[in-house]
Amino acid sequence: MTERLYYRDSYLTEFRARVVDASPDRRRVYLDRTAFYPTSGGQPFDSGELGGLRVLEVTDEGDRIAHVLADTLAEMEVDGRIDRVRRFDHMQQHTGQHLLSAVLIELFDAPTVSFHLGVDVCTIDVAGALEPEQLREAERRANQVVFENRPVTVSFQDSSEDLGLRKPTERAGLVRIVSIENLDRSACGGTHVRATGEIGPILLRKLDRIRGNLRIEFLCGGRSIARARADFDALSKIARVFFSPLDETPALVEAQREKLQEAERTRRRLSTELAQASGRALYGETASGPDGIRKVLRHLEASLSEESRAEAQSFTAAGPAVFLAVAENPPSVLLAASKDSGANCGEILKRLLGVAGGRGGGNATLAQGSLPSKTALQELTESVSRELNFPA
Ligand SMILES: [Zn+2]
Repeated sequence: MTERLYYRDSYLTEFRARVVDASPDRRRVYLDRTAFYPTSGGQPFDSGELGGLRVLEVTDEGDRIAHVLADTLAEMEVDGRIDRVRRFDHMQQHTGQHLLSAVLIELFDAPTVSFHLGVDVCTIDVAGALEPEQLREAERRANQVVFENRPVTVSFQDSSEDLGLRKPTERAGLVRIVSIENLDRSACGGTHVRATGEIGPILLRKLDRIRGNLRIEFLCGGRSIARARADFDALSKIARVFFSPLDETPALVEAQREKLQEAERTRRRLSTELAQASGRALYGETASGPDGIRKVLRHLEASLSEESRAEAQSFTAAGPAVFLAVAENPPSVLLAASKDSGANCGEILKRLLGVAGGRGGGNATLAQGSLPSKTALQELTESVSRELNFPA
């Protein structure tokens, strides 16, 4: 059975221990005592070194803790050294979680159902529905408890006693209890700070609905500061673009978005008008064939668009006419014809696209389709031109 030194002292980051068991390659080792926290209860394992070798993973096997090392461990007596920065970060996040979960019960009777301590952010899943304003209130209350710097203590009590826990435990026998003075008592094996002030600022961020629960993203201590710094830098960048004070940027961005939408509507209207004018001009420039119908074949550099349709419809609205447009990227085709041209665009294109392995359709005066390749497009263009007697 491994003695868990972090149970009594979460600030202990250097220790000496004896190897009591190991895998044949001596990369998975068991000690008589360890300060390394194994992944459990939503908190990731501690990194660091054991006998000068990097600790890659620490797992909880019930009675024993396994240390997975980067190389073979030769010694039987080893010095352990835990990455203090990572450990303290985990202590801040985990104690912050206890505090936040307790505040959500105190204020809104909303129990925490799960906790995840991630590399960048932490989340808790909370049962029930909470409004954003309620979460702002929880954030204020949580930080108030931080400022009060209440003691956080660890005690061991028997499960048969009335433990007064926030969440009942299923553990039998001796239970480790982490308490925040006058706020919370939780059965927990995690590493915690000794007073709420050390949690540092608690910042609530994103909210997501997940399987009927509310997932709350939160950050504590150093992570809150790093995030606030990143947020400020990002906002400042946007504000500089708009030459605006930071706090006025959201309204300005919204106004800019509306302006842009308006400009986009205008651009579309104008480019449709331009396409229509171009269709009329093209009609004027195109001579009628022997059958009295004006026919034009347009090769487009860009893909087919709203404008292509406007130009085609304008061309065929001016008199007896057929308009064929082909675009290579992606291979596609548009066929338009005036009613008095005698051509049925939908029928022709559907039939020839079927032969060419393409897809599409339309009505008698306008049809469109896409083709699997440039060769197929070329063949279809020739077929349509032949069928509708386009000038060579
Ligand atoms: Zn905990």
